[in-house]
Amino acid sequence: MKKILVTGGAGFLGANLCKKLVQQGHDVLCVDNFFTGSKENIAELIGQKYFDLMRHDVTFPLYVEVDEIYNLACPASPVHYQYDPVQTTKTSVHGAINMLGLAKRVHAKILQASTSEVYGDPEVHPQSETYWGRVNPIGIRSCYDEGKRCAETLFFDYWRQHKTKIKVARIFNTYGPLMHPNDGRVVSNFIVQAIQGNPITIYGDGTQTRSFCYVSDLIDGLIALMNTPEEVTGPINLGNPVEFTMLELAELVIRMTGSVSQIIFQKLPEDDPKQRKPNIDLASKHLNWQPKIHLEEGLQETINYFRKVLLK
Ligand code: NAD
Ligand code: UDP
Ligand code: UDP
Repeated sequence: MKKILVTGGAGFLGANLCKKLVQQGHDVLCVDNFFTGSKENIAELIGQKYFDLMRHDVTFPLYVEVDEIYNLACPASPVHYQYDPVQTTKTSVHGAINMLGLAKRVHAKILQASTSEVYGDPEVHPQSETYWGRVNPIGIRSCYDEGKRCAETLFFDYWRQHKTKIKVARIFNTYGPLMHPNDGRVVSNFIVQAIQGNPITIYGDGTQTRSFCYVSDLIDGLIALMNTPEEVTGPINLGNPVEFTMLELAELVIRMTGSVSQIIFQKLPEDDPKQRKPNIDLASKHLNWQPKIHLEEGLQETINYFRKVLLK
């Protein structure tokens, strides 16, 4: 049994991760300030013997004793990370410094939830880990993109300078149960709109692409990365390499929900990446990992989840 800290543990990925780690028999400490996460997400864990919940903001120091740290704290949806952009950068940068300082003090292994956003609006397609990216340093997405890039820098400097045991995962668009209905990201928006019979909002002309990974696959990838030998630091892409346009996604969601919703086109947000698709050769080589759940199967689970949540 390992003592494992999950920051951002009450969020979408964090709550799914906490559940899996408790299931595997570990002693899990979930730390969250509930900015986008909620106690509801981890309700079934609260009160269990090997689960603790602490309300805490990672931009402040944290003194606990653990063996492993999954650093997930950070709003991930553009709507939420742009709501208080200064806090978003602080969360990524000060949060990384504090969690690395903690890992260094207690000799814990630490995994960073980085993102495909470090590639920005990429001109290399699909994106491999060797690509340095094309990120606007002063745009509305920069608080998130540059915050995450700086966090990666800190991870690699703690590794070089202090021999801290690091793992960096570059996560591509992931969806599934425990996303908040008002999360604002595309999969949850489309499903909630379709179920409620509201217009499906496509930003731009819908030809931009993303590659969607189901949450159970992603969580397996994160845990596999944490369990690699010490020399495997990453960065390693984790995502599903099957690429869709937003128009295809909208049509699929309408068909699968049997919705009467119409598609409407709205303004494309500034700096919205035109294409995104991971090259997952490294994950396949080092983690023997690849996604198992096809989009339709994952969407069905997610639609079932949102139907239940919206009924409440
Ligand atoms: P989410 O918004 O559902 O979860 C983030 C969690 O972090 C929330 O519970 C929030 O309350 C918490 N949090 C935010 N700021 C905090 C702070 N200062 N101190 C403590 N807790 C804080 O998002 P998610 O999709 O679960 O993403 C989790 C992590 O994975 C994020 O770091 C995100 O950047 C990364 N990621 C996610 C995706 C994806 O598609 N889901 C893709 C790339 C990267
Ligand atoms: N820190 C923390 N928990 C710990 C150890 C450190 O939150 O258990 C924070 C501490 O506030 C510090 C940061 O992590 O500012 C970086 O720690 P480090 O030891 O790398 O640097 P220093 O203490 O010299 O600033
Ligand atoms: N998007 C959309 N309608 C929505 C929400 C998002 O068309 O209601 C688009 C968005 O412009 C982007 C893609 O879907 O091109 C993915 O957006 P999301 O916010 O999910 O993630 P990210 O842009 O960070 O990949």
